[in-house]
Amino acid sequence: MRLEVGAALVDGRFVPGQVEIVDGRITRCGLSGTNGRGTIAVPGFVDLQVNGFGGVDFLDADADGYRRAGDALLETGVTSFLPTLITAPVDELDAALAEVPLDSEGPRILGVHLEGPFLALERLGTHPPLGRRDPDLVLLARLLDAGPVRMMTLAPELPGALALIDMLRARGVVASCGHSDATAEQADAAFDRGARTVTHVFNAMRPLSHRDPGIVGAALVRDDVIVQMIGDGVHLAPATISLVWRAAAGRIALVSDAVAAASALDGSYSLGSVELSVKDGAVRGPQGMLAGSVQTLIEAVRNLASLGVPLEEAVDAATAVPARVLGLRDAGRLDVGLPADVVVLDDNLEVERVFVRGEAHVVA
Ligand code: ZN
Repeated sequence: MRLEVGAALVDGRFVPGQVEIVDGRITRCGLSGTNGRGTIAVPGFVDLQVNGFGGVDFLDADADGYRRAGDALLETGVTSFLPTLITAPVDELDAALAEVPLDSEGPRILGVHLEGPFLALERLGTHPPLGRRDPDLVLLARLLDAGPVRMMTLAPELPGALALIDMLRARGVVASCGHSDATAEQADAAFDRGARTVTHVFNAMRPLSHRDPGIVGAALVRDDVIVQMIGDGVHLAPATISLVWRAAAGRIALVSDAVAAASALDGSYSLGSVELSVKDGAVRGPQGMLAGSVQTLIEAVRNLASLGVPLEEAVDAATAVPARVLGLRDAGRLDVGLPADVVVLDDNLEVERVFVRGEAHVVA
């Protein structure tokens, strides 16, 4: 099959011409042809933090819910993602982990992002305090045995948290620092121990201050740390997004932090046991605190581009960089020999067509 586009983003550079897909893989790029001008093929988006989507909350989703959420994610160009479970009672996490369908159709489910329960009490945001736990290796082992955990967000300053990082690394799970009151020194200790990324920078963390740079400052100045960022213009002011970009371009992974209300109508939704209301693009919990987003990764890419970030780099932040966090070489990139997870964007950067392993999903 020949993908009629004007250019393709091949390993971070636009290559003019069309793309050939055979048996679910990309076989050639840069083919001449006159159809498809004005459109571009980019790698399918990789979202490391999706609590829910299309009206579905992953904490209580069944196979049908995953299918519906997956279809809605595909419409927005996401071809791989980590369903993300917020802090909840252990029995609920066990049950939710057992429901994750790794071999479902639609976008690829790369594993689960457990956001908690080993988080800082003072930085919980809307996570329910009842489910929060102090670091506990027995509990961690139980959670890792309960389902396909791929990433865990934890507060590294909690007593015993560094031992959690050791166990996560030994089990091949990415440790991400977040919902944390860590000082820069405490964050550095976690990075030195093997945590290589931070969850939604600036949000639910000790703020950056001139004599107390905190976990934000530590993450922004370390070249070996990937900074996950919600790029919706609600969680971070545009100038803050630009600041993060200037400090950490090339190691920023855009995440949606989407909740069930994403790609659904304004109204009331739930995130685990928390009631959410959605109005004018902002998702809030009962006390009015921000609680996830309804933004999609393509909107975040457009936001970055509108702030002056070159399109190639903005797309990289939604594709290659998040794939790097997980150590994946066959996702988040478009190149000969790789699986054809491809998004075609029109000249307004709207999603036009989406391919998962060469299978087409046309967006209305
Ligand atoms: Zn969070």
